[in-house]
Amino acid sequence: MKMNAYQAEKIANILSTIKEKSPFYKMKFKGIDLSKIKTQEDFEKLPFTDKDDLRDAYPLGLKAVPEKDIVRIHSSSGTTGTPVIIPYTKKDVEDWGVMFERCYKMAGLDPEDIVQITPGYGLWTAGIGFQYGAEKLGAMVIPMGPGNTDKQIKMMLDLHSTVLCATSSYALLLSEEIKKRGIRDNIRLKKGVIGSERWGDKMRERIADDLGVELYDIYGLTEIYGPGIGISCSYENGIHMWDDYLYFEVIDPKTGKVLPDGQEGELVITTLLKEGAPLIRYRTHDLTRIMTGGCPCGSGYPRIDIITGRTDDMVKIKGTNIFPAQFDGVLSGMENVESEYQVMIDHLDGKDIVTVFFETKLPEEKRPALEKEAAKRLKEVIGITAVPKAVNVGDLPRSEKKTNRIFDNRY
Ligand code: ZN
Repeated sequence: MKMNAYQAEKIANILSTIKEKSPFYKMKFKGIDLSKIKTQEDFEKLPFTDKDDLRDAYPLGLKAVPEKDIVRIHSSSGTTGTPVIIPYTKKDVEDWGVMFERCYKMAGLDPEDIVQITPGYGLWTAGIGFQYGAEKLGAMVIPMGPGNTDKQIKMMLDLHSTVLCATSSYALLLSEEIKKRGIRDNIRLKKGVIGSERWGDKMRERIADDLGVELYDIYGLTEIYGPGIGISCSYENGIHMWDDYLYFEVIDPKTGKVLPDGQEGELVITTLLKEGAPLIRYRTHDLTRIMTGGCPCGSGYPRIDIITGRTDDMVKIKGTNIFPAQFDGVLSGMENVESEYQVMIDHLDGKDIVTVFFETKLPEEKRPALEKEAAKRLKEVIGITAVPKAVNVGDLPRSEKKTNRIFDNRY
């Protein structure tokens, strides 16, 4: 994507002082004369910033303002040891709220809406981001946080929630519960704002049908403000991104080369206005592409495609690189296969064994044929020999956070 004049000016601004302000970037850009970075081409030669670099800056090494100007910190989930702490100034919090409010407006929300927020509150950015954006809009917020399905449904019924904010897996869990209790006609939900983890078309259709809502994919990550830096519009035509706050690139995850628009690779983000912890060329590890052409909704904000996976989700099976989305692609094209699936990779007797569990409503006696069909398609489309196993709907776990679908038990 071409860097526009506004973005070029903001980037020049940041680069002119970042070494002075940020000890982290003073180290990172050591030996690089930033005053020589004039064009997009020059910019594309700057080194990337990766999550591991941010971990090394624990606890507050990322801050680029005096500590008295920090009003809040967030931390991204430290599944692998040291967490990453992101400091925010007053303006950063405000900017994030402006972007989030814009997301809600894109989804057609207005001050009449009653927004039930189920993502978690606390160190991570989810719940509080959803809340501040909704309050800025003037909607009514029900700050539930995750879990306690009974109470979620009670609030939904008694307070007439019109919007559900959730991860896709928790939205699925709630939609199944609502269907089971036969109370769909009593709920007033119109819209779902769903955190954009990878989710298949089948899951989307099921949630939309069971809840009777329109769904919007909201994108974001803690390192770059949090959720709310982009959202899909009602045309479900990718995710509009707020390019007046952020600059986006899509790179080849292996070579680091910037890819032409339309080609899939890893999303890289540079913050244009962030004060507390500006990030230059931050690797998100999310796989997507920049979409070309205009959107029928008329918005001028550029779009990325729905996230198809993460570079770190990629697994190597029998010498072939495979992404979870590829399993999704095969299974979602099959009749009688429901939206949830799980892939187990084990190493037995010197061989990789791939077991693919999927849910079906078919009775036991009809399952072997379906499993055989799935095996055939997985072989044809992805090129791997897998053992498909059909299970009952509801047998595979649903989680309140992100659902892990590939379990690599080989190492
Ligand atoms: Zn649009």
